[in-house]
Amino acid sequence: RGSVHRICSGQVVLTLATAVKELVENSIDAGATIVEVKLREYGSEMIDVSDNGLGVEEKNFEGLTLKHHTSKLEDFSDLINVETFGFRGEALSSLCALSIMSVVTRHKDVEVGTKLEYDNHGKVNSRSSVARQIGTTVTLQNLFYTLPVRHKEFQRNLKKEFVKMVHVLNAYCLINTGVRITCTNQTGKGNRTTVVSSKGNQTVKENISNIFGPKQTQSILEFKQHKPTEEVSTEYGIKLTEGQTQLFKIEGHVSKCEHGQGRSSADRQFYFINKRPCDHSKLSKLVNEVYHQYNRHQYPFVALSITIQKESVDVNVTPDKRQVFIENEKILLAVIKTSLIEMFEPTAS
Ligand code: ADP
Ligand code: MG
Repeated sequence: RGSVHRICSGQVVLTLATAVKELVENSIDAGATIVEVKLREYGSEMIDVSDNGLGVEEKNFEGLTLKHHTSKLEDFSDLINVETFGFRGEALSSLCALSIMSVVTRHKDVEVGTKLEYDNHGKVNSRSSVARQIGTTVTLQNLFYTLPVRHKEFQRNLKKEFVKMVHVLNAYCLINTGVRITCTNQTGKGNRTTVVSSKGNQTVKENISNIFGPKQTQSILEFKQHKPTEEVSTEYGIKLTEGQTQLFKIEGHVSKCEHGQGRSSADRQFYFINKRPCDHSKLSKLVNEVYHQYNRHQYPFVALSITIQKESVDVNVTPDKRQVFIENEKILLAVIKTSLIEMFEPTAS
């Protein structure tokens, strides 16, 4: 099973960014209000994610790292109603196969913490009692060392991988307004620098200011949702019935479109569906295209949070759950297009 599992694991956890994302999601799923990510050498030596969540129950110590073990999904029909980020039980099992993993956890109902060390097959190697506050710390050392080619690639592109990871963490910082997330990185010279931090009791707009600086908030507009104009409806080939435009609730912020208010690249664009950071290429392409009609040489800052009925969205399409399938996607795109035009047209305000 060893090598096959290792290859499959490589597909669930492709990058540093996915590894950190999975651990942070687990912390949020566990009800944490504080999540601390500590990296050594940009994550290549060590990734350590600590939280003050519920902790792991003893009966789950062994199962934690087994494929398809999850404590979050009771029966398959629940798949539509998942509120948690995780539900596949694949992350820890994959990370175990790809790195040296240990867990220190104290469940809320017990007095003492436990340190667990796992082998690459997900078996508990050693177990000991340790002092710990309620919560969980997952530590990964030497990520990808079991996949030599991937490992070399990772070492070669450390800084790039790191930038991608920071982007992903920024998304979780922006949208999780009740969770304080920090990330630090320690390099050889011994200095530890803070890479990302959010305060945990702020609005999305305050988070934007906190993460990207107050200047960023001065150059953005609040997204105002409009019904598609007839022109845009025709363009998308949709006939709208009453109520269909209310299928979506869209909130957030986009750069003002005057020159100098945008950015030179599409480096600060965040989309959320039901509070889940996601990639939707049609959506981001549309937003950039509309923006370019008004501000030809720049890209907007985007933080758009879309709320959709659970039945109308499927996050289960790709292993990393970042790509989503949306029912009535055309209507969503039409609503966003019209709204942006209304926001940007000089006559519209
Ligand atoms: P999933 O999140 O899909 O359930 P994972 O492999 O990410 O699968 O995690 C497996 C299980 O480990 C979770 O269902 C949960 O019970 C437990 N777990 C993982 N991380 C934490 C954490 N930070 N706090 C509490 N429990 C955790
Ligand atoms: Mg998970």
